[in-house]
Amino acid sequence: MHQQIPTRQNFNDWMIPVYAPANFILVRGEGSRLWDQAEKEYIDFAGGIAVNALGHAHPVAVTALTEQAQKLWHLGNGYTNEPVLNLAKRLIQHTFADKAFFCNSGAEANEAALKLARKVGLSHPSGQKNKIIAFKNAFHGRTLFTVAAGGQPKYSQDFAPLPQGIEHLAFNNIEAAQAAIDEHTCAVIVEPIQGEGGVIPANPAFLQALRQRCDETGAVLIFDEIQTGIGRTGALYAYMNTGVTPDILTTAKALGAGFPVGAMLTTDRFAAHFCVGDHGTTYGGNPLASAVAAAVFDFINDEKVLAGVTLRYHYFVERLKQINASYPIFDHIRGQGLLLGIVLKPAYAGRAKALAELAAEAGVLVLIAGPNVLRFTPSLIIPEHDIEEGLQRFSRACAHFLAQA
Ligand SMILES: *Cc1c(COP(=O)(O)O)cnc(C)c1O
Repeated sequence: MHQQIPTRQNFNDWMIPVYAPANFILVRGEGSRLWDQAEKEYIDFAGGIAVNALGHAHPVAVTALTEQAQKLWHLGNGYTNEPVLNLAKRLIQHTFADKAFFCNSGAEANEAALKLARKVGLSHPSGQKNKIIAFKNAFHGRTLFTVAAGGQPKYSQDFAPLPQGIEHLAFNNIEAAQAAIDEHTCAVIVEPIQGEGGVIPANPAFLQALRQRCDETGAVLIFDEIQTGIGRTGALYAYMNTGVTPDILTTAKALGAGFPVGAMLTTDRFAAHFCVGDHGTTYGGNPLASAVAAAVFDFINDEKVLAGVTLRYHYFVERLKQINASYPIFDHIRGQGLLLGIVLKPAYAGRAKALAELAAEAGVLVLIAGPNVLRFTPSLIIPEHDIEEGLQRFSRACAHFLAQA
């Protein structure tokens, strides 16, 4: 039978419409360049939403995946496997954690963290330690528990009744947090930098206050590092630059550099509250995912690679300021490392998506984080000439944008 090449229209015809993808279909990638069906080339500043930390088709990841693919794909959790143990060892050796639980996505990692925190709270003699403190504008995933924990009502309001016992506070407000975290609180969940919410960093003093209040009340402090982890900010995990160590850390996105994998990390003290049968998932710790993640981890957890993230940050910021001098569209730049939020001036509020579309037309892929912020989360090893070429294309998109405005 004749095979027809899929078209963008097929998406509208066949896919449940929860996404609004670009009007082109990408078919191939190498490093930080991508090509669509018409062979048009794009520079990739989106990085699969902070996932493709080594760009596309990096030999380290390809080799790990193909070698493992010849050996063993899947066993199920009745049997452990070498790749998952290799990955766990790396994560616990290089973080505060003693134990790891593996899953397939960020939402699942947070789901595990919130369930563990509830189980920890259950052991409290009061029997009432189950309140979860989360923050407005936060994003923690799309399962029912994680949309309820997230602080953007648009993601949860249509799915009531929601899991109960979650209170949302203003992000970065120390007084509100000190008042709300009490002996009924079992967990506080926070992003060190709110990613989807607009690339908004937590103040170190705010995180320190959360740590202190959790210690005083016996609540578990959960850092959602799904977007900030695995070198994204220039540290292996963002907490390492804050002076605050969480009790539970969730990681996904760049962990597999494009192969789906997530993890919850914690200390022996909290891990002991989960017993055989308490939680699980079929694919968690899958050998293919684990082999890729371990190879990616070894590559990124290297002083030179991490320092390179900070160098690239400075390069981006300097060049973006030059672009803004010619085309004054941006108010300020936020973020750390290669998690950059470029905030539109109030005059262009709500136009981030329009500018991102013009950028794609000019041959550079960028993300948005809400209606007023452009977001760049490229490969952590994007070559300087790709940054330069991508920013030249971005600059042309800015010229277009102003011409239309
Ligand atoms: C992406 C993201 C999630 C959800 O991860 P999924 O893999 O999409 O489930 C959760 N928290 C943060 C901070 C994220 O950036």
